[in-house]
Amino acid sequence: MNKILIITAPSGSGKSTIIKRILEIFPQLKFSISACTRSQRATEVNGVDYYFISVDNFKRKIINNDFVEWEMVYEDKYYGTLKSELDRIWSENNIPLFDVDVKGALHVKRMYGNNTTAVFIKTPSEEVLKNRLIKRNTDTPQSIQERLEKAAYEATYASKFDYIVINDDLEVAVQEISTIIQNFLS
Ligand code: ADP
Ligand code: 5GP
Repeated sequence: MNKILIITAPSGSGKSTIIKRILEIFPQLKFSISACTRSQRATEVNGVDYYFISVDNFKRKIINNDFVEWEMVYEDKYYGTLKSELDRIWSENNIPLFDVDVKGALHVKRMYGNNTTAVFIKTPSEEVLKNRLIKRNTDTPQSIQERLEKAAYEATYASKFDYIVINDDLEVAVQEISTIIQNFLS
């Protein structure tokens, strides 16, 4: 049975930080590298964090039916899970870890049902989220504002997922998610 682990969360809640840790703990989990059209951050590596592609190229892939799912997560910013990623990871007998927005997560859950587990990560408050986005220093004030507005909307989806984990103390959050994953894999 081909499984999928889904991690979803508002931008800035600590998802990437947690995912890095989880991938070190569970070698059978492999990050599903999404395609996206936003610009690359200084800390990111093309082909590791995302496949950074143009909007034209992304639209071609939509027409070619290359995506498992895709969303315009922010104004004119497209993100999508490639079928080739899923096939590559499953063919190596590993389990893909998806980092997708709430709509993408629900879409994948609908498609793959009981073979998925979806974890929603949130910050203890909106204030903490704002401070983390500012401190991360990777987004413009406008992009931070866009992310905060989106976060409030995304929070209304939290109860639709299998688990909600609050990322207050990082070590506690990693431990909680590790326990969820152990159950999912067993
Ligand atoms: P996301 O991938 O959800 O956008 P990041 O992993 O980039 O979020 O985390 C956003 C910022 O918050 C980063 O600067 C990260 O170092 C920091 N961060 C993550 N988890 C915690 C935590 N538990 N406590 C304090 N800061 C954190
Ligand atoms: P960021 O720009 O902060 O890396 O990500 C913005 C949002 O896009 C996050 O919520 C992230 O989970 C989501 N995202 C990343 N890749 C995908 C994808 O392939 N599909 C969907 N639907 N969302 C994605």
